[in-house]
Amino acid sequence: MTANEQQTNVAVLGLGPMGRAIAATLVKAGLPTTVWNRTPGKDTELIGLGAVGAIDSAAAIEAADLVVAVLSDHASVHTVLDPVADRLRGKALINLTSTAPEDSRELAAWAAAHEIDFLDGGIMAVPPMIGTPGASILYSGSAAIFDRYHGDLEKLGSAEYFGADAGTAALYDFALLAGMYAMFTGFFHGAAMVRSAGISASDFATRASAYVAAMAELLPAYAEVIDSGDYTDDVQPASFHKPAFDAIVRASRDAGVALDIVGPVKNLIDRQIADGRAGEGLERITEELAGHRE
Ligand code: NDP
Repeated sequence: MTANEQQTNVAVLGLGPMGRAIAATLVKAGLPTTVWNRTPGKDTELIGLGAVGAIDSAAAIEAADLVVAVLSDHASVHTVLDPVADRLRGKALINLTSTAPEDSRELAAWAAAHEIDFLDGGIMAVPPMIGTPGASILYSGSAAIFDRYHGDLEKLGSAEYFGADAGTAALYDFALLAGMYAMFTGFFHGAAMVRSAGISASDFATRASAYVAAMAELLPAYAEVIDSGDYTDDVQPASFHKPAFDAIVRASRDAGVALDIVGPVKNLIDRQIADGRAGEGLERITEELAGHRE
Protein backbone atom coordinates (compact mmCIF):
# COMPACT_ATOMS: atom_id res chain seq x y z
CA MET A 1 0.00 0.00 0.00
CA THR A 2 1.39 3.44 -0.84
CA ALA A 3 1.34 6.45 1.45
CA ASN A 4 -1.93 7.68 -0.02
CA GLU A 5 -3.47 4.23 0.57
CA GLN A 6 -4.06 3.56 -3.13
CA GLN A 7 -3.00 0.13 -4.26
CA THR A 8 -0.08 0.05 -6.64
CA ASN A 9 -0.55 -1.80 -9.91
CA VAL A 10 2.75 -3.56 -10.52
CA ALA A 11 4.16 -5.27 -13.59
CA VAL A 12 7.03 -7.71 -13.26
CA LEU A 13 9.01 -8.30 -16.46
CA GLY A 14 11.17 -11.41 -16.31
CA LEU A 15 10.15 -14.58 -14.49
CA GLY A 16 13.39 -16.35 -13.72
CA PRO A 17 13.71 -17.60 -10.11
CA MET A 18 14.16 -14.04 -8.82
CA GLY A 19 11.36 -12.48 -10.88
CA ARG A 20 9.00 -15.25 -9.80
CA ALA A 21 9.91 -14.78 -6.12
CA ILE A 22 9.34 -11.03 -6.40
CA ALA A 23 6.04 -11.38 -8.23
CA ALA A 24 4.78 -14.05 -5.81
CA THR A 25 5.63 -11.86 -2.82
CA LEU A 26 3.82 -8.87 -4.31
CA VAL A 27 0.74 -10.95 -5.14
CA LYS A 28 0.67 -12.44 -1.64
CA ALA A 29 0.95 -8.91 -0.24
CA GLY A 30 -2.25 -8.09 -2.09
CA LEU A 31 -0.85 -5.89 -4.85
CA PRO A 32 -2.49 -6.21 -8.27
CA THR A 33 0.39 -7.76 -10.20
CA THR A 34 0.76 -8.40 -13.91
CA VAL A 35 3.58 -10.64 -15.05
CA TRP A 36 5.35 -11.28 -18.33
CA ASN A 37 8.19 -13.51 -19.46
CA ARG A 38 9.79 -14.02 -22.88
CA THR A 39 9.42 -17.79 -22.75
CA PRO A 40 5.79 -18.69 -22.06
CA GLY A 41 4.70 -20.97 -19.23
CA LYS A 42 6.70 -19.47 -16.36
CA ASP A 43 3.66 -17.54 -15.10
CA THR A 44 1.42 -20.56 -14.40
CA GLU A 45 2.06 -20.76 -10.67
CA LEU A 46 1.84 -16.98 -10.30
CA ILE A 47 -1.51 -16.89 -12.08
CA GLY A 48 -2.64 -19.56 -9.64
CA LEU A 49 -1.71 -17.19 -6.81
CA GLY A 50 -3.71 -14.35 -8.35
CA ALA A 51 -1.34 -12.60 -10.78
CA VAL A 52 -2.48 -11.61 -14.25
CA GLY A 53 -0.43 -13.09 -17.09
CA ALA A 54 0.19 -10.57 -19.87
CA ILE A 55 0.38 -11.60 -23.50
CA ASP A 56 3.38 -9.33 -24.10
CA SER A 57 5.54 -6.78 -22.30
CA ALA A 58 3.50 -3.86 -23.67
CA ALA A 59 0.31 -5.30 -22.17
CA ALA A 60 2.04 -5.80 -18.81
CA ILE A 61 3.26 -2.20 -18.79
CA GLU A 62 -0.16 -0.89 -19.82
CA ALA A 63 -1.69 -2.41 -16.67
CA ALA A 64 0.89 -0.95 -14.29
CA ASP A 65 1.91 2.24 -12.48
CA LEU A 66 5.13 0.60 -11.35
CA VAL A 67 7.17 -1.59 -13.70
CA VAL A 68 9.85 -3.88 -12.23
CA ALA A 69 12.44 -5.41 -14.57
CA VAL A 70 14.10 -8.60 -13.28
CA LEU A 71 16.03 -9.80 -16.31
CA SER A 72 19.41 -11.46 -16.86
CA ASP A 73 21.74 -8.58 -17.55
CA HIS A 74 22.07 -5.07 -18.96
CA ALA A 75 21.70 -6.20 -22.59
CA SER A 76 18.47 -8.09 -21.87
CA VAL A 77 17.02 -5.02 -20.11
CA HIS A 78 17.50 -3.01 -23.32
CA THR A 79 16.22 -5.88 -25.47
CA VAL A 80 13.00 -5.93 -23.46
CA LEU A 81 12.51 -2.21 -22.76
CA ASP A 82 13.72 -0.44 -25.92
CA PRO A 83 10.73 -1.51 -28.02
CA VAL A 84 8.27 -0.39 -25.30
CA ALA A 85 9.97 2.86 -24.25
CA ASP A 86 6.94 4.89 -25.39
CA ARG A 87 4.61 2.78 -23.22
CA LEU A 88 6.80 3.45 -20.20
CA ARG A 89 6.65 7.25 -20.56
CA GLY A 90 5.36 8.80 -17.34
CA LYS A 91 5.54 5.51 -15.42
CA ALA A 92 7.89 4.43 -12.66
CA LEU A 93 10.53 1.89 -13.67
CA ILE A 94 12.62 -0.08 -11.20
CA ASN A 95 15.47 -2.18 -12.53
CA LEU A 96 16.27 -5.07 -10.19
CA THR A 97 18.45 -6.79 -12.78
CA SER A 98 22.07 -6.91 -11.62
CA THR A 99 23.88 -4.38 -13.78
CA ALA A 100 27.31 -2.78 -13.34
CA PRO A 101 27.18 0.77 -11.92
CA GLU A 102 28.03 2.38 -15.28
CA ASP A 103 25.28 0.31 -16.93
CA SER A 104 22.78 1.44 -14.29
CA ARG A 105 23.76 5.05 -15.03
CA GLU A 106 23.35 4.41 -18.73
CA LEU A 107 19.86 3.00 -18.07
CA ALA A 108 19.02 6.10 -16.01
CA ALA A 109 20.08 8.34 -18.90
CA TRP A 110 18.08 6.21 -21.35
CA ALA A 111 15.04 6.45 -19.07
CA ALA A 112 15.41 10.22 -18.67
CA ALA A 113 15.57 10.61 -22.46
CA HIS A 114 12.24 8.78 -22.67
CA GLU A 115 10.67 10.66 -19.72
CA ILE A 116 10.57 7.55 -17.58
CA ASP A 117 11.20 7.89 -13.84
CA PHE A 118 13.96 5.42 -12.96
CA LEU A 119 15.18 3.69 -9.81
CA ASP A 120 17.89 1.05 -9.81
CA GLY A 121 18.11 -1.73 -7.24
CA GLY A 122 20.63 -4.30 -6.06
CA ILE A 123 19.15 -7.42 -4.49
CA MET A 124 21.13 -8.72 -1.51
CA ALA A 125 19.23 -12.00 -1.22
CA VAL A 126 18.49 -15.27 -2.99
CA PRO A 127 14.94 -15.98 -4.24
CA PRO A 128 13.67 -17.92 -1.18
CA MET A 129 14.64 -14.97 1.03
CA ILE A 130 12.48 -12.44 -0.85
CA GLY A 131 9.71 -11.21 1.42
CA THR A 132 11.49 -12.38 4.59
CA PRO A 133 13.28 -10.16 7.13
CA GLY A 134 16.68 -11.42 5.89
CA ALA A 135 16.24 -9.89 2.44
CA SER A 136 17.70 -6.49 1.72
CA ILE A 137 17.43 -4.45 -1.47
CA LEU A 138 19.59 -1.38 -2.08
CA TYR A 139 18.18 1.40 -4.25
CA SER A 140 19.47 4.55 -5.94
CA GLY A 141 18.11 6.88 -8.58
CA SER A 142 14.72 8.54 -8.39
CA ALA A 143 13.90 9.61 -4.83
CA ALA A 144 10.33 10.20 -5.98
CA ILE A 145 9.87 6.52 -6.86
CA PHE A 146 11.55 5.34 -3.67
CA ASP A 147 9.41 7.61 -1.47
CA ARG A 148 6.18 6.90 -3.27
CA TYR A 149 6.52 3.13 -3.36
CA HIS A 150 8.56 2.63 -0.22
CA GLY A 151 5.77 0.70 1.51
CA ASP A 152 5.46 -1.66 -1.44
CA LEU A 153 9.22 -2.14 -1.72
CA GLU A 154 9.42 -3.06 1.96
CA LYS A 155 7.24 -6.09 1.18
CA LEU A 156 10.20 -7.56 -0.74
CA GLY A 157 12.79 -6.96 1.97
CA SER A 158 14.33 -4.04 3.80
CA ALA A 159 14.57 -1.15 1.34
CA GLU A 160 17.45 1.31 1.65
CA TYR A 161 18.02 4.40 -0.52
CA PHE A 162 21.54 5.51 -1.49
CA GLY A 163 20.91 8.77 -3.34
CA ALA A 164 20.16 10.13 -6.77
CA ASP A 165 23.12 8.56 -8.61
CA ALA A 166 21.53 5.45 -10.18
CA GLY A 167 24.90 3.66 -10.08
CA THR A 168 25.42 3.80 -6.31
CA ALA A 169 23.16 0.87 -5.37
CA ALA A 170 24.93 -1.37 -7.90
CA LEU A 171 28.34 -0.17 -6.69
CA TYR A 172 27.38 -1.03 -3.11
CA ASP A 173 25.91 -4.36 -4.26
CA PHE A 174 29.11 -5.43 -6.04
CA ALA A 175 31.36 -4.13 -3.25
CA LEU A 176 29.45 -6.34 -0.79
CA LEU A 177 29.60 -9.27 -3.20
CA ALA A 178 33.37 -8.81 -3.62
CA GLY A 179 33.75 -9.19 0.15
CA MET A 180 31.40 -12.16 0.17
CA TYR A 181 33.27 -14.01 -2.58
CA ALA A 182 36.64 -13.33 -0.90
CA MET A 183 35.21 -14.72 2.35
CA PHE A 184 33.75 -17.83 0.70
CA THR A 185 36.89 -18.58 -1.32
CA GLY A 186 38.95 -18.13 1.86
CA PHE A 187 36.75 -20.77 3.44
CA PHE A 188 37.25 -23.08 0.45
CA HIS A 189 41.01 -22.65 0.83
CA GLY A 190 40.81 -23.56 4.52
CA ALA A 191 38.61 -26.56 3.76
CA ALA A 192 41.26 -27.78 1.29
CA MET A 193 43.96 -27.33 3.97
CA VAL A 194 42.21 -29.35 6.69
CA ARG A 195 41.24 -32.07 4.20
CA SER A 196 44.94 -33.00 4.07
CA ALA A 197 44.56 -34.11 7.72
CA GLY A 198 41.33 -36.00 7.05
CA ILE A 199 39.12 -33.29 8.56
CA SER A 200 35.79 -32.84 6.79
CA ALA A 201 34.61 -29.50 5.41
CA SER A 202 31.52 -29.83 7.64
CA ASP A 203 33.64 -30.12 10.74
CA PHE A 204 35.76 -27.16 9.61
CA ALA A 205 32.60 -25.11 8.88
CA THR A 206 31.36 -25.29 12.46
CA ARG A 207 34.52 -23.51 13.61
CA ALA A 208 34.98 -21.30 10.58
CA SER A 209 31.48 -19.79 10.69
CA ALA A 210 31.87 -18.84 14.36
CA TYR A 211 35.35 -17.42 13.73
CA VAL A 212 34.30 -15.40 10.67
CA ALA A 213 31.33 -13.98 12.61
CA ALA A 214 33.63 -12.95 15.47
CA MET A 215 36.17 -11.39 13.09
CA ALA A 216 33.43 -9.43 11.29
CA GLU A 217 33.10 -7.43 14.52
CA LEU A 218 36.47 -5.85 13.67
CA LEU A 219 35.25 -4.23 10.45
CA PRO A 220 34.12 -0.91 12.01
CA ALA A 221 37.54 -0.45 13.64
CA TYR A 222 39.30 -1.15 10.32
CA ALA A 223 36.92 1.28 8.61
CA GLU A 224 37.75 4.01 11.13
CA VAL A 225 41.44 3.70 10.26
CA ILE A 226 40.76 3.78 6.51
CA ASP A 227 38.52 6.85 6.84
CA SER A 228 41.13 8.62 9.00
CA GLY A 229 43.88 8.00 6.41
CA ASP A 230 46.36 7.42 9.28
CA TYR A 231 47.58 3.82 9.03
CA THR A 232 50.23 3.98 11.75
CA ASP A 233 49.79 0.82 13.82
CA ASP A 234 51.81 0.10 16.97
CA VAL A 235 49.97 -3.12 17.78
CA GLN A 236 49.58 -5.22 14.62
CA PRO A 237 51.38 -3.52 11.72
CA ALA A 238 52.32 -5.27 8.45
CA SER A 239 55.58 -6.47 10.06
CA PHE A 240 53.43 -8.39 12.59
CA HIS A 241 51.25 -9.96 9.89
CA LYS A 242 54.12 -10.93 7.56
CA PRO A 243 55.45 -13.95 9.53
CA ALA A 244 51.88 -15.05 10.24
CA PHE A 245 50.97 -14.90 6.59
CA ASP A 246 54.21 -16.58 5.52
CA ALA A 247 53.24 -19.38 7.90
CA ILE A 248 49.81 -19.64 6.24
CA VAL A 249 51.53 -19.96 2.87
CA ARG A 250 53.97 -22.56 4.20
CA ALA A 251 51.16 -24.56 5.84
CA SER A 252 49.15 -24.41 2.61
CA ARG A 253 52.09 -25.63 0.54
CA ASP A 254 52.81 -28.43 3.00
CA ALA A 255 49.16 -29.45 2.82
CA GLY A 256 49.37 -29.53 -0.98
CA VAL A 257 46.95 -26.62 -1.39
CA ALA A 258 47.39 -24.24 -4.32
CA LEU A 259 48.08 -20.58 -3.52
CA ASP A 260 45.53 -19.01 -5.91
CA ILE A 261 43.59 -17.49 -3.00
CA VAL A 262 46.24 -16.63 -0.41
CA GLY A 263 49.09 -15.85 -2.84
CA PRO A 264 47.75 -12.41 -3.87
CA VAL A 265 47.27 -11.44 -0.20
CA LYS A 266 50.87 -12.41 0.56
CA ASN A 267 51.99 -10.28 -2.40
CA LEU A 268 50.09 -7.26 -1.05
CA ILE A 269 51.67 -7.62 2.41
CA ASP A 270 55.15 -8.08 0.93
CA ARG A 271 54.68 -5.04 -1.31
CA GLN A 272 53.58 -2.86 1.61
CA ILE A 273 56.72 -3.83 3.52
CA ALA A 274 58.93 -3.33 0.45
CA ASP A 275 57.40 0.15 0.12
CA GLY A 276 58.71 1.00 3.61
CA ARG A 277 55.31 0.73 5.29
CA ALA A 278 56.04 -2.17 7.64
CA GLY A 279 54.80 -0.07 10.58
CA GLU A 280 51.40 0.57 9.03
CA GLY A 281 48.31 -1.59 9.43
CA LEU A 282 46.90 -3.97 6.84
CA GLU A 283 44.04 -1.53 6.24
CA ARG A 284 46.52 0.34 4.02
CA ILE A 285 45.84 -2.29 1.35
CA THR A 286 42.76 -0.16 0.57
CA GLU A 287 45.09 2.63 -0.64
CA GLU A 288 47.12 0.14 -2.64
CA LEU A 289 44.01 -1.11 -4.43
CA ALA A 290 42.06 2.14 -4.87
CA GLY A 291 42.38 4.27 -7.97
CA HIS A 292 43.78 1.37 -9.99
CA ARG A 293 42.95 1.32 -13.69
CA GLU A 294 43.56 -1.73 -15.88
P1 NDP B 1 17.58 -15.79 -14.74
O1 NDP B 1 18.75 -15.61 -15.63
O2 NDP B 1 17.23 -17.17 -14.29
O3 NDP B 1 16.25 -15.16 -15.37
C1 NDP B 1 16.37 -14.08 -16.18
C2 NDP B 1 15.07 -13.73 -16.87
O4 NDP B 1 15.46 -12.84 -17.92
C3 NDP B 1 14.34 -14.90 -17.50
O5 NDP B 1 12.99 -14.69 -17.25
C4 NDP B 1 14.66 -14.75 -18.98
O6 NDP B 1 13.61 -15.14 -19.83
C5 NDP B 1 14.83 -13.27 -19.11
N1 NDP B 1 15.65 -12.90 -20.25
C6 NDP B 1 16.97 -13.10 -20.42
N2 NDP B 1 17.40 -12.61 -21.60
C7 NDP B 1 16.28 -12.09 -22.19
C8 NDP B 1 16.07 -11.43 -23.41
N3 NDP B 1 17.05 -11.21 -24.27
N4 NDP B 1 14.80 -11.03 -23.70
C9 NDP B 1 13.79 -11.23 -22.82
N5 NDP B 1 13.95 -11.85 -21.64
C10 NDP B 1 15.19 -12.27 -21.32
O7 NDP B 1 17.87 -14.85 -13.52
P2 NDP B 1 17.24 -14.75 -12.04
O8 NDP B 1 15.77 -14.73 -12.08
O9 NDP B 1 17.93 -15.72 -11.15
O10 NDP B 1 17.82 -13.33 -11.65
C11 NDP B 1 17.32 -12.16 -12.24
C12 NDP B 1 18.24 -11.00 -11.87
O11 NDP B 1 18.31 -10.92 -10.44
C13 NDP B 1 19.67 -11.18 -12.38
O12 NDP B 1 20.19 -9.97 -12.82
C14 NDP B 1 20.41 -11.66 -11.15
O13 NDP B 1 21.79 -11.29 -11.16
C15 NDP B 1 19.67 -10.92 -10.03
N6 NDP B 1 19.84 -11.61 -8.78
C16 NDP B 1 19.55 -12.95 -8.72
C17 NDP B 1 19.82 -13.66 -7.57
C18 NDP B 1 19.53 -15.12 -7.50
O14 NDP B 1 19.95 -15.75 -6.51
N7 NDP B 1 18.84 -15.71 -8.48
C19 NDP B 1 20.39 -12.99 -6.36
C20 NDP B 1 20.56 -11.56 -6.51
C21 NDP B 1 20.33 -10.92 -7.70
P3 NDP B 1 13.47 -16.62 -20.42
O15 NDP B 1 12.73 -17.42 -19.41
O16 NDP B 1 12.73 -16.43 -21.69
O17 NDP B 1 14.87 -17.14 -20.65
